[in-house]
Amino acid sequence: MKIKPILTKIKESQEIDVQLVSELYTLARTSLVVLFLLVVLIATVLREAFPVQITIWAIILNIFIIMRMYTVYKFKQNKNLYSLKTWYKIFLVLSLLTATIASSLGYYFIYYFDAYHQLFVVTALLGMASGSIVSLRPDTRIAIAYISIIILPLIISLNFVALGAKTHALAFILVLYCIGPISMFLKTYAENRQYKEAKAESTILKNIFKEAPLGIFSYDKNLNILEANNEFFNIFNRSKKSYKHLNLRNLSDKRPIDNIIKTITKGAQTYNGPYTSLDQKDYWIHMNTFPFSNGDNVTIGGIGLIEDKSNEHDAQKKLEFQSKHDSLTLLLNRRGFMDYIKELVNDENHHSYYSLLFYLDLDQFKGINDSLGHAMGDKILLAISGRLLGALDEKATISRLGGDEFIIIVPYVASDKKIAKENAHTYTKILQNIFEQYFIIDDIHLYIKSSIGIVIIEPNYMDTEEIVRQADMSMYQAKNTNTDVAFYNIEMDKKQKELFALQHDLAFASQNNEFDLFYQPIVDLVDSKLYSAEMLIRWKHPTRGVLRPDEFIPLTIKAGILSKITWWLLERVCEQIVEWKKNNLWKLEYISINVNAQQLVENNFAQKFIRILESHGLNTKDIMIEITEQSIIDSFSYAQDVIDALHTNGIRCAIDDFGTGYSSLSYLKKLSFDTLKIDREFIKDIQENSEESTFLTSILDVGKHFNYNIIIEGVETEGQRDTLLSLGHNLRFQGYLVAKPLKSDEFTKKFLH
Ligand code: C2E
Ligand code: CA
Ligand code: CA
Repeated sequence: MKIKPILTKIKESQEIDVQLVSELYTLARTSLVVLFLLVVLIATVLREAFPVQITIWAIILNIFIIMRMYTVYKFKQNKNLYSLKTWYKIFLVLSLLTATIASSLGYYFIYYFDAYHQLFVVTALLGMASGSIVSLRPDTRIAIAYISIIILPLIISLNFVALGAKTHALAFILVLYCIGPISMFLKTYAENRQYKEAKAESTILKNIFKEAPLGIFSYDKNLNILEANNEFFNIFNRSKKSYKHLNLRNLSDKRPIDNIIKTITKGAQTYNGPYTSLDQKDYWIHMNTFPFSNGDNVTIGGIGLIEDKSNEHDAQKKLEFQSKHDSLTLLLNRRGFMDYIKELVNDENHHSYYSLLFYLDLDQFKGINDSLGHAMGDKILLAISGRLLGALDEKATISRLGGDEFIIIVPYVASDKKIAKENAHTYTKILQNIFEQYFIIDDIHLYIKSSIGIVIIEPNYMDTEEIVRQADMSMYQAKNTNTDVAFYNIEMDKKQKELFALQHDLAFASQNNEFDLFYQPIVDLVDSKLYSAEMLIRWKHPTRGVLRPDEFIPLTIKAGILSKITWWLLERVCEQIVEWKKNNLWKLEYISINVNAQQLVENNFAQKFIRILESHGLNTKDIMIEITEQSIIDSFSYAQDVIDALHTNGIRCAIDDFGTGYSSLSYLKKLSFDTLKIDREFIKDIQENSEESTFLTSILDVGKHFNYNIIIEGVETEGQRDTLLSLGHNLRFQGYLVAKPLKSDEFTKKFLH
């Protein structure tokens, strides 16, 4: 708000304000009557000299005076007849006309009078002028003009149209006479202006004070209100009349009072907080209070500015709520949950009490979303959140971390771990019960299952990130047990951590060339003549030493990199065979490599396999593929075609670990295998256990019947070999009795030279 232009405006409009015009008209009432009588008196005296002219002069003058009286009367009757400006103009014109006609005495008639009448004229005009000083006082400009019109011509006449030597002196006195009132007028005029300006300014300030959207108040040392504006009362809801007696200690809400008091002793204060008004309306106010002092710098009270920040505060609250709550269920979201758990561990109760955390994850929720649509998914989540809220007591806090994951925290259940655990079981039951009844949504009956991971939060345990991680882990453990419920288990967690670390390292293993190829010979049972070899992978882990495939192959499957590794191994095996062939060391029937049956599903597996052999200039019979019985059973339907295709192209396949998958041989005969590798399990106790040898005999019979080559795995002792010899001759074996898997150079040296 710019004050200056407003000031000028007010000044302009107040130049001719109601007060001024009314005063002019009111004062004119008596003065016009006096003037009328004065004109009659002058005419009576001067008629002796000029009977006709003076009479006419007096009549004209009095007509004007009567007109002015009439306007005064009209103004009194009805001010609104004309605008203020018009009333002012009427007054101005008529009064100046009156003055002009009256002044003709001084410059026209005066020449024709004798000294006595001349003096009379001077006195009379002087009388008129001084009369106007009183009646025209409110408007300085009219007053000065009026006096000037009457006196100035007279002064000129007295000086220049010399009526006699003494008139100069008279004129001089007249001038002096004029200077007095005129300067007085000018002074009042200037003062008036200043006064009006000051008044305008204070009006503005008053208006600002009164109408500001800011509560303003001042108070003395005893907290009595001295002055307060409308907004102050809006907020504090007091009848305005009563503020004179209002003491701030008696506010309906005492919360801001501390700050109001402190202001006087300690200086400026700010209160930003809630305030409940007399009519129980809740506000959020921002109040600044400042001390004010007297001339001697002694604090004598305070000034306060209050702003109603309720709307802003509400909006902010709403935003805060949204940022911490899930918009679908209105439960806490991840952020709200994190805040909550931080509060939980910082609470005093956390020093001595156990708390419970339940991590609830729906099974197959993604499937529901995909098949029934997201709207349905949302309805299910809402229904579940409704059931949770209904089933759990007030102590429990429920959050939805997004998706189908809910976390329930029950704080400070017990100070004894056993009791805490019992509590955990009770709550688990409640949570499981929620899913016992099917859900009916849009007339569809849905059974929903869930897994629950449980963490018992120890007293004084502060690491919230770790609690969340343990919750995650417990859920992982729950999903991997068949009860669907698991308490967080530190041992399993350790194992899991190691696995994760390994999985991470795996990503770099092939890049860093950490995989190594080992070869184990396969020999004839009768004369131990070298027949072929199996390639077995090893991982030279930078810190853990050499790892065996059982320790990392499952991870490579999980990480989805086994296929890549297999292709890489195949290339290396091909290179190896090429080298042996080049050095004339190749005296094996084939090298076998292990392939997981799942990999067979890859696009054009057989073609790719053959292409790689060809690119190295190898024969398709140089490499055999070993596929475990178990993995074939798992992927039987698609393995069939690929194995057929490989067989057609001359690539041989073996059933590995035969006997562990409980499949019937005739069933496997449907696939085009030509070698059977009998699992180590059946050889282990063959000397002591005659049942094992009977079983082995029957497999050997069937194998022979279907014309399989048979390899016995894991032969470690001479005794085992002898027992096997008694069962049949046309067999081959692989085992520590001949050699452990060896590095390629060792294998070459020992078996190929
Ligand atoms: P497998 O195919 O049955 O391989 C034979 C396993 O028995 C090898 O273990 C070998 O070292 C071990 N073995 C051989 N003779 C004896 C013995 O006399 N006594 C004992 N106790 N063990 C013997 P390894 O090398 O640890 O391989 C374990 C399994 O890992 C393999 O079983 C195979 O299924 C898998 N594997 C090995 N290399 C690869 C590979 O390159 N690709 C894939 N997909 N799997 C592989
Ligand atoms: Ca094998
Ligand atoms: Ca095997």
